[in-house]
Amino acid sequence: MERDIEEENTVEGDAMKLKRSILCFEHCEKRIFSMDELPSCCLICDTPIFNCQLKIPPFAVPSPFQRATDFPCSIVIKPTKGNFLEDYTNKSNLHIAITNSDGIIFEFDRGGLRCDRAEEWNSCLVLDLGDDPLLQDIVEDPDWGEYWDLCLDKTYSSNKFSKESYDEDENNCFNFVLTFLTSLNQAPFTGWAASKVEFCQKLILPKTVMAAKYIMLYRKVRDHQGIMVVD
Ligand SMILES: [Zn+2]
Repeated sequence: MERDIEEENTVEGDAMKLKRSILCFEHCEKRIFSMDELPSCCLICDTPIFNCQLKIPPFAVPSPFQRATDFPCSIVIKPTKGNFLEDYTNKSNLHIAITNSDGIIFEFDRGGLRCDRAEEWNSCLVLDLGDDPLLQDIVEDPDWGEYWDLCLDKTYSSNKFSKESYDEDENNCFNFVLTFLTSLNQAPFTGWAASKVEFCQKLILPKTVMAAKYIMLYRKVRDHQGIMVVD
């Protein structure tokens, strides 16, 4: 019983950490960043900030991280171990998964296929599949979700992705996603799926590069006791 409570607390603690936001305002010609709440005064001139005119109203720096369940028919990534904000480095292995039209997350790892770990996908990156102009008509088609689910079911129930057939290099989460994209038999998805390297360059790299900027800012503010002045 005691262990259950402990574990619950840890999960809650982690969830809290992931929800932290970076706030920003300008005063004395400097940008001031803070974690979760605004300071009462400007750090430089001590003016109470709730009583003074600010050139730009305080705002939350937009986080690139999303909850996978909010993004149906998507491809999502997160670090294999830990989370982006606290644990990610450019050497981290990434784990990739697919959401169906209801936002349920389908993934493949050394334990086999599964679709019951939504809580681990609360702070992930969602790849920009719909940005390609070729895709606008396709993804807006009312039958697209149904078709996506059909292909996902087919890939999920094929015998290519059993626990026994998992291989860290040759048959991993990435192979599962690329096999699914190929099964859509639809440009440009099938083309993307033809090369792991191209898929990474076109769809994953832009996302991780953008996320890295936010992660760096987050860690700087965190390491400055939650408040930081930038010229
Ligand atoms: Zn000031």
